[in-house]
Amino acid sequence: MKIALIGNPNSGKTTLFNLLTGLNAKIGNWPGVTIEKKSGVIKNTNYEITDLPGIYSLSPYSIEEEISRKYVFDENPDVIINIIDATALERSLYLTTQLLELDCRVIVALNMADVLQKKGIKINIQKLEEILCTKIIKISALRGAGIKELINNIKIYNTFNKSHIYDSKIENSINKIQDILQIPPNKRFISVKLLEKDERFMNLETKEIDKIRIELEKYYETDLEETIAIQRYKFIEKLKKETVIKKIKTKTFSDKLDTVLLNKWFGIPIFIIIMFFIYYFSVGVIGNYTVDLISSFIEKISEYTKFLLKNINTSDWLISLIIDGIMTGVGSVLSFIPQLIILFFCISILEATGYMSRISLLLDKIFKKIGLSGKSLIPFIIGSGCSVPGIMGTRIIENQEEREKTVILTPFIPCTAKLPMIALFSGYFFGKNSGLISVSLYFLSILIIIFSAILMKKIVYKDTNNTYIAELPEYKLPNIKYVLRDVWDKVISFIKRAGTIILICSIIIWFLLSFSFKLEYGININNSILAHIGKSMSWIFYPVIGINSWEATVSIIQGLVAKEQVISSMSVISGLSEGGTKIFEIGSVFNFFTPVSGCSFMVFNLFSAPCFGAIAAMDKELFNSKKTIKAITFQTILAWFISAFIYQIGSRIEKGIFNITDILMISIILVILSKILLYKKEEKSECRYCPYANSCVR
Ligand code: GDP
Ligand code: MG
Repeated sequence: MKIALIGNPNSGKTTLFNLLTGLNAKIGNWPGVTIEKKSGVIKNTNYEITDLPGIYSLSPYSIEEEISRKYVFDENPDVIINIIDATALERSLYLTTQLLELDCRVIVALNMADVLQKKGIKINIQKLEEILCTKIIKISALRGAGIKELINNIKIYNTFNKSHIYDSKIENSINKIQDILQIPPNKRFISVKLLEKDERFMNLETKEIDKIRIELEKYYETDLEETIAIQRYKFIEKLKKETVIKKIKTKTFSDKLDTVLLNKWFGIPIFIIIMFFIYYFSVGVIGNYTVDLISSFIEKISEYTKFLLKNINTSDWLISLIIDGIMTGVGSVLSFIPQLIILFFCISILEATGYMSRISLLLDKIFKKIGLSGKSLIPFIIGSGCSVPGIMGTRIIENQEEREKTVILTPFIPCTAKLPMIALFSGYFFGKNSGLISVSLYFLSILIIIFSAILMKKIVYKDTNNTYIAELPEYKLPNIKYVLRDVWDKVISFIKRAGTIILICSIIIWFLLSFSFKLEYGININNSILAHIGKSMSWIFYPVIGINSWEATVSIIQGLVAKEQVISSMSVISGLSEGGTKIFEIGSVFNFFTPVSGCSFMVFNLFSAPCFGAIAAMDKELFNSKKTIKAITFQTILAWFISAFIYQIGSRIEKGIFNITDILMISIILVILSKILLYKKEEKSECRYCPYANSCVR
């Protein structure tokens, strides 16, 4: 028997799923998307259960909704368990009324019964069952209450009528369309969707159906999608009035805790302090310590391997491949792991205590405006240490689009590996003002993030904005078993996917740097393949630094391995063992840098494609190599435009030839930008008609 678990985000699906299956779940991804796919077998039965992504409706407006619809229609589950957060009935029942239109058996699991009791809310289950025409079982997934009854009911084949939720005019039309439709299953659901003009079912459209729709549209004077949504909400409102009895609310422990943690003034500062502590602990203390530890460990192993290989007369190039190519790659993968473990552990605990959902409510208000999630702040803060754990931290964002956007934006935050470059350039060229320059770069990164977020919201993504949390889970002690398993899953999947990419890319760069086109080994870097690539590409950076310099180009490419390498590559190329500020002095090939070109060069390196580690992490989280390539192309092109803009304007001011045409050009660019940012797409979401929309976070 096949069972689908469907419900809103945060309704307790995963908690119930874990409880039902024990720890025997298979975890993967839905084909083509990052959304987690979990399926497993209910303990002591042969029922297969699938945890579907959290959704608010069965419309086709988000990837999560599409996955769930596809599952219901293609996989034909025998039973749908619709899990509902009983403390947020009106929000949850919208989906329920849609599910009940399907021909599949639906059991409604009214979750969070424990919270209901605490809050003194009573729900008349019998009446709810009568009106909805389905089986309803009160459970608490967290406390394990009502689970036996739920499992027993899966076996019982009750047949129910379909409840009538629309006015007689629409109900009659639905009946008429049902008669026209020939395919038997899910006729009522499909009839409603045909009235709504849902793309997926328009192939079933006939002239008669079109006529029925046009008649109704004339009568209601709006499109039917709106009419149907409004009637659905009215039905739910009435249902709630008839079945929910509220006693005067007493303050729960969570409410009391919230007066501090979600305080209007202190809430966000407290959160930032907690996040910085986690960041400091994982990336700072543990990270620094373990990176050193691992690199000295790798160094020892490398020395030993080198010794062994020399003893058996291995050729120089093979030794270099193993030591400089492979070992370096493995080392950089390994060096991320301890920080990732600590970080995932801390975040998983924050999630399991319920704090994360609650704080997101506060942050969502700000971040939703630019199309991100309140939880996006976490990857951004972590990303200022290192983008890799930052990007991996995006997993906690439920909504696929918001998560993808955050993945793409996180590398814009300058990570610690970029600091040596910032320090060297701004120290040399700006002396006393170097602090000011560094701070401006952070501000620039925030501006770039806001700009790109709005750009993606307006242009690339559907802008459905339909995730919100109206009522919140209670605070509680985390279950360490689940937390540890969560950490384990995430770390293993990082090693598998990111590990291979980092390794392969490190080997490729090693090859390009160590060989000439004639495949000679042991050559001067100036004759390497990479140098030739640099020479053929240097024109690209002419507008950015005002000169064709293959040396600078090669340094940029080497920065892909790790951003610290930009500086070390410059030292090597200029033939200086120590490097430092000497690389800018007379006699060095990098003597051409001026304050302005130094600045634009820095900006390009900071905001273009991140290092291979981060690219691999992006690829892992975007789950789609095409999207990864698009994302790094976007980052690189954006960085090019900004740095070229800085150089073109700056150098003209530097030379004193800035004039009225420049001002004109800047104005034109600003006008185009504001046009893009103000571009508005039509919003498609049932939220438009929801009577609770004002009180909920969007
Ligand atoms: P999902 O998004 O639907 O998978 O929801 P989760 O299973 O992740 O649960 C969201 C939050 O609600 C978690 O913090 C759970 O611990 C909590 N939760 C789930 N079921 C219950 C319940 O019956 N009672 C209480 N108090 N909290 C619950
Ligand atoms: Mg879940």
